[in-house]
Amino acid sequence: MTKLLEVRDLKMYYSTMRGDVKAVDDVSFAIEKGESLGLAGESGCGKTSVALALMKLYPSNAKILSGEVLLDGVDILKMSDEEIRREVRWRRISMVPQAAMTALNPVFTIKDQIVEAILTHEDVSEKEAGERAVELLRRVGIDPSRASNYPHEFSGGMKQRAMMAMALSCNPDLVIADEPTTALDVIVQAQVLKEIKKLQKELGLSMILISHDLSVVAETCDKTIIMYAGNIAEDSTTLEIFRHPLHPYSIGLIGAFPKLTGERKRLESIKGNPPNLLNPPPGCRFHPRCPYAKDVCKVVPPPLQETHIGHRVACHMVNRHPEYR
Ligand code: SF4
Repeated sequence: MTKLLEVRDLKMYYSTMRGDVKAVDDVSFAIEKGESLGLAGESGCGKTSVALALMKLYPSNAKILSGEVLLDGVDILKMSDEEIRREVRWRRISMVPQAAMTALNPVFTIKDQIVEAILTHEDVSEKEAGERAVELLRRVGIDPSRASNYPHEFSGGMKQRAMMAMALSCNPDLVIADEPTTALDVIVQAQVLKEIKKLQKELGLSMILISHDLSVVAETCDKTIIMYAGNIAEDSTTLEIFRHPLHPYSIGLIGAFPKLTGERKRLESIKGNPPNLLNPPPGCRFHPRCPYAKDVCKVVPPPLQETHIGHRVACHMVNRHPEYR
């Protein structure tokens, strides 16, 4: 596979009246062409901030202190806003935002909104844009006869699919879907996830799926990154993360989900709360909640190191986990 996007040592803080919120700290990862990557972790762990940095869409109080975001080798953080708008957003990277269900404009039909997105970014005729909009809706499972409906005539699942069609309207290489199914009931959620996965494979798209719900990531993604308090705790293939989690936080997260097969066990939650990123704990940011923390964990931040090919873990005690589990 060929690398599409590489994030290197990204550090992004938000300036506030009370100090800097250390939202993303030394985050590095890559995504290949045609690959799906899940960014998982509790709310406020920095997942959405990473996504916003990939499109340079962060709010005005955000500051990038260091790092690179290389799209086919070109650092988009060095591009001007105009270059990003012209060359990257929608055309190369598009996003289905967290509030996708309310992002549609209530006074325009679904088709018109997709046409508008195409015409804004591409030099094509209105007729061609209209045909493409209908084809995109068909692709995401919406009957073309519904293209002229208004958003209020669509169910939650259909609105989510329409947003996906809009994100695909300029044939991007990478789609970032931020909590795409959070507001949907479980049955519709399963249908939408199946649709997203099918589209991603059919179109050979790269996709970053952000979710606090591990089952959504497990269902959809080839690889998974578990984030905690602005850092990557662990990353690997999704299968490896779920079968052999090595970071105590990942072990806790996965242990908090019920299993359908095997021995019945009491579900364990992770004690405590995520830290305030205005003043995160020194050393390993997870140490106040970690049952295996040692003195070194309170002082020295653990480096993200490869334990075996394609599996990275940020934990001083990683070699002792078999005896902990
Ligand atoms: Fe726990 Fe220490 Fe590992 Fe952090 S480095 S996860 S505190 S054992």
